Amino acid sequence: MRDRASIDRSTIAPYAAGEPGPFYYARYDHPTGVEAEGALGQLEGGPALLFASGAAACTAAALGLLEPGRTIALAAGAYYGTSRLFASLGRWGLRFVEFDQTGPPPDDADLVWLEAPSNPFLTFPDLEAAAAHPAPVLVDSTASTPVLFRPLEHGADFVLHSATKYLGGHSDVLLGALVCRSEEDHARLKELRGLSGAVAAPDAAWLLLRSLETLTVRVTRQSATALELARRLAAHPTVELVRYPGLGPDPLAARSMQGGFGGMLSFDVGADAHKVETSTRLIRNATSLGGVRSTLETRRRWEGERVPEGLIRLSVGLEDVDALWADLEQALARAQVQPSPRE
Ligand code: PLP
Repeated sequence: MRDRASIDRSTIAPYAAGEPGPFYYARYDHPTGVEAEGALGQLEGGPALLFASGAAACTAAALGLLEPGRTIALAAGAYYGTSRLFASLGRWGLRFVEFDQTGPPPDDADLVWLEAPSNPFLTFPDLEAAAAHPAPVLVDSTASTPVLFRPLEHGADFVLHSATKYLGGHSDVLLGALVCRSEEDHARLKELRGLSGAVAAPDAAWLLLRSLETLTVRVTRQSATALELARRLAAHPTVELVRYPGLGPDPLAARSMQGGFGGMLSFDVGADAHKVETSTRLIRNATSLGGVRSTLETRRRWEGERVPEGLIRLSVGLEDVDALWADLEQALARAQVQPSPRE
């Protein structure tokens, strides 16, 4: 079908009667990018900007919205790469403090940075408490997607995505996005993006357009499967703890998340976690999340002491729920078996 934009890879467009048009140089704007930004902006409810990766979007937000000496209040347990990025920006005078995002942000915050839900701890931010803070609020909504949650409708000023994950959805595109509440912030960040060159390529933008057509179907199915797997894991004797939004004892949260809330969950095993991750067959032992094929990995290898040794993050794809459960069950069984000394 040819009703989707074709990829326009031109880096320049000829001036018209000596005047540069909107696509005169692709580092500032290109047709495929503008089309994809329009589609994402409509889903989130604000003007959007695409970046070369989620990390590039994080960098643009930190550098574009703050000055040396300012403080970011970052949700504790958020994607570990974000705290590593902020730590490295400390050389330019940027400070960051971590706080429990289920409560109010600290008073001295100049930018509140939430994650909905956090990766891999699956806490959900109290957006009402954050919006009551005078500082602007940014929500990294990578794991929610606009299918499940639209932060701008809840008082956030910025939404960030690693579109590499659910928005891209097929583990074949590296992409980031920022969606703004105001046109002024959008213009400010767009200028920085053009000057710094953190723009997304036309091919990546086109892959996003392709993927948005199936976003709702994918996320709805991944959520339903993840909720079912979370329930079964919680009842498994080898599993000590399951983290998934709405799974806890809070009946209100559970009811509001009846259909499941996203395809990411994490669980702690009271067994050899490395054995579990290397024993699955259908589920790939790989990093990242949001793809149509399920992946899982222990997070200790990347995040060190800040995560429990037995923590495994699972990204649920589109496979059959019983096939996924059978795979997890046999991997958990293998990890449980202690070989006798004579074996
Ligand atoms: N934000 C979250 C919640 C993530 O999980 C990631 C990557 O894992 C990022 C941001 C960074 O995105 P990218 O890998 O596309 O640069």
